[in-house]
Amino acid sequence: MRIPHGSALHVQDGDLHLEQVALKTLATTHGTPLFAYSKAAMLQALAAYQRGLAGRSAQIFYAMKANSNLAVLQLFVQAGCGLDIVSGGELARALQAGCPANRIIFSGVGKSRAELRAALDVGIACFNIESLAELEALNAVAVAMGVQAPISLRVNPDVDAQTHPYISTGLKDNKFGIAHEDALQAYLHAHALPGLRVVGIDCHIGSQITQTAPYLDAMNKMLDLVQAVEAQGVPIAHIDFGGGLGIDYAGDTPPNADELWRALLALIDARGMGNKTIFIEPGRSLVGNAGVCLTEVQYLKPGAHKNFCIVDAAMNDLPRPALYQAFHEILPTQTRSATTQTWTVVGPICESGDWIGRDRELAIETGDVLAVASAGAYCMSMASNYNTRNRAKEVLIDGDQVTVIRERDTYADQWALERMLPQA
Ligand SMILES: *Cc1c(COP(=O)(O)O)cnc(C)c1O
Repeated sequence: MRIPHGSALHVQDGDLHLEQVALKTLATTHGTPLFAYSKAAMLQALAAYQRGLAGRSAQIFYAMKANSNLAVLQLFVQAGCGLDIVSGGELARALQAGCPANRIIFSGVGKSRAELRAALDVGIACFNIESLAELEALNAVAVAMGVQAPISLRVNPDVDAQTHPYISTGLKDNKFGIAHEDALQAYLHAHALPGLRVVGIDCHIGSQITQTAPYLDAMNKMLDLVQAVEAQGVPIAHIDFGGGLGIDYAGDTPPNADELWRALLALIDARGMGNKTIFIEPGRSLVGNAGVCLTEVQYLKPGAHKNFCIVDAAMNDLPRPALYQAFHEILPTQTRSATTQTWTVVGPICESGDWIGRDRELAIETGDVLAVASAGAYCMSMASNYNTRNRAKEVLIDGDQVTVIRERDTYADQWALERMLPQA
């Protein structure tokens, strides 16, 4: 069994703990499936970025789509973060969690006019614009409201982030951003529009990036563009470098956030742009390894070709294996003396894609609780009610303290907004 780096998981007296809480006991108290997040792990992950950017004019915007629970947002906002949002729903959530509007930035390729209006209305810090059409739409909305919208253009630097194709976003043929070669013209155009105020430049090249080189490539291309745009008389106050830093799922060794930023800031300084404000939008790297999903073994189904371990969490709780063939470490929460066997861990959903881990060496019995590691990011925020399954409960761990931060759905919650046909 391998405990991922940065997870606050450790074995004590034979039992797996998250901070000071034994996970088997936690599952008994709160039921399964259950998401548990370590406050210390989240704040430690944040601290690495804060160290890396110390002494600079900089703002960290937590990309809240990774995990948008209100309590998680509160934690990051109280620690000084702003929030990077991608929808009107996330705007509402961010405000509900107490994030000041001037610490919100808005990303995404398909912001609706209503979403643009709502964000202008509360006065967010910056709109990250992804196309010329969006530039025109935001200008029209802002002019009609009699305001100026602060904008940056999301530039697609055309670098290969060397990650899964579904989470690689900085290549020419991705739907994201404005092509690098079109960006200068787009800036000149934006600068001339009355409803817009150019404040920055933005990129986000992908997710689960474990190499430094793609980041350095992207930064070089961004700085080229900043120089070209400023040479035409359009000042760029901030460089938003997106998120995307990877975490240890399966022995991955991404650079530490502080080391990565030391290298990036050295590059910025070497090119004489050390006075620029830095924005970043990390998501996964702040929360991914802070979370586990606890699930109970329902049935063991050994077979001639494969042994299946059927658990009570499924692809509706943990969508990443089905969506990206992603690997999550699966850890027993108690030590068993029995010898291990090879198990494929699956959920109860009626889909062959509903698997959580393939061919894992585990010593388990029916009724055991397993911890699916690295489940703090893109799990609960992607969860659904498929198969009319209640979405899980969530708790925050702080030392030996356990705080419920989301109750489990009830069946009645699931159909509360549905309307039955009138009876004849
Ligand atoms: C998803 C996203 C992020 C965060 O990505 P992570 O890989 O979770 O760090 C940042 N910026 C934008 C625009 C995004 O879409």
